[in-house]
Amino acid sequence: SAEVRFEDVRFAYNPDRPILRGISFAVPPGKTVAIVGPSGAGKSTLSRLLFRFYEPQGGRILIDGQDIAAVRQDSLRAAIGMVPQDTVLFNDTIGYNIRYGRWDAGEAEVREAARLAQIDRFVSGLPEGYDTPVGERGLKLSGGEKQRVAIARTILKSPPILVLDEATSALDSFTEREIQDALDRVARGRTTLVIAHRLSTVVNADEILVLDRGVIVERGDHAGLLAAG
Ligand code: ADP
Ligand code: ADP
Repeated sequence: SAEVRFEDVRFAYNPDRPILRGISFAVPPGKTVAIVGPSGAGKSTLSRLLFRFYEPQGGRILIDGQDIAAVRQDSLRAAIGMVPQDTVLFNDTIGYNIRYGRWDAGEAEVREAARLAQIDRFVSGLPEGYDTPVGERGLKLSGGEKQRVAIARTILKSPPILVLDEATSALDSFTEREIQDALDRVARGRTTLVIAHRLSTVVNADEILVLDRGVIVERGDHAGLLAAG
C-alpha cells in the first residue's frame, strides 16, 4: 500500500471563491482517513484533485513522496479505486461491469471478487448468472446491488489506494450497514480516504478530519470527536 499526503492544498473553481483553503493531512499506508463535513464543504473536491481532474493552485499532493503533478492521470486511475455515491453501470452484463478495467482477469478471480462482494445474492437465482444484462434493456439493480458490483470491480482491480465518496449515503439504513461491512473488508490493508457527511458512518477510521468551508476545523478519532461534541 501507499502513503497519500496533502500539503497545504489550496483550490478554487472560481478565483473569487476559495473552496479549499490550506488542507494538510496524510493517510499512512494501509490506514483509513475519513473526511466528514456538511454538503458543500469541499470534500469531493479533495478526491477530484487526487485524480488530477483539477490541479491545486497552492500546495501539493504526494503519493509515496512523489508529487502527483508529475504523474499521468491514467496511472493515478490505475492506482486508485473509487466507489462513488451512485454507481452508474454500463448497459452490458454484470460480468462486463465487474471485469471493467481488468480484462486479463481469469474466471476464478472474477468469481472470488463476486463472492467477496456478495454478488451471488442476486445473480445466483439467475440462470445466465454473470451474463445477465443490466441497465436500460436488462435487469434493473437496486442501489445496494449496484454498489456490490462496484465493490466487486474494486476487489478485482485491487488498487493500493481507495476512495469511498459517500459510497453508502444513497442507501436505506439496512442496506447501508451491509454495504458498509463489504467496504470495510475491501478497505482493510489499503490506503483509504473515506468521504462522508455523517460521523456515524466512519466509526472505524484511524483518523477523522472535519472539513468546514474549506478548512479542517477538527481532527481525531471517532470517540474523541464525539466527546468534543
Ligand atoms: P462536498 O463534497 O463537501 O459536498 P464539493 O467539493 O462537491 O463539496 O463542493 C464544494 C463547493 O464547490 C460547493 O460550493 C460547490 O458548489 C462548488 N463546486 C463544486 N464543483 C464545482 C464546479 N465544477 N464549478 C464550480 N463550483 C463547484
Ligand atoms: P479509463 O481509464 O479507461 O478511462 P475509467 O477512467 O472510466 O477508465 O475507469 C478507470 C478507473 O478510474 C475506475 O475503475 C475508477 O476507479 C476510476 N475512475 C473513473 N472515473 C472516475 C471518477 N469520475 N471519479 C473517480 N474515479 C474514477
